[in-house]
Amino acid sequence: MQAVTKGDLRPASTKAECFYCKQPIGGEHLADCVLVRSNYASCIACIKKVSTGEVVLYRTDVWCYGGLNFYLWQDGNYSCDCNRALFFERTKGTEPTSINCGESEYLVNIEVRGKIEYREYG
Ligand SMILES: [Zn+2]
Ligand SMILES: [Zn+2]
Repeated sequence: MQAVTKGDLRPASTKAECFYCKQPIGGEHLADCVLVRSNYASCIACIKKVSTGEVVLYRTDVWCYGGLNFYLWQDGNYSCDCNRALFFERTKGTEPTSINCGESEYLVNIEVRGKIEYREYG
């Protein structure tokens, strides 16, 4: 949850509430408020298929509240080959022909604002 603060008010607004989700100062933004979404930074996951060496660029978001957080890719759901196979193939406009769970078929580097912030391959 994220608190609504004075910084979330808009000059044009006369009310002491979030311009987007209308929650009052001191309250909490609704989960789908655009300001809550700003806890994510856009990033590019450079997904490499180990067997072929092919790399695709998959656009996504990374949790950045309190600093960039790559847990999802490191140990979470996206660390598994089954999710990575989906991202890899869908980036190319295809569907994976086979999906295996594991952590050896795909490697990922993640670029945030033009800089690689998370690296699995050199
Ligand atoms: Zn809000
Ligand atoms: Zn899996």
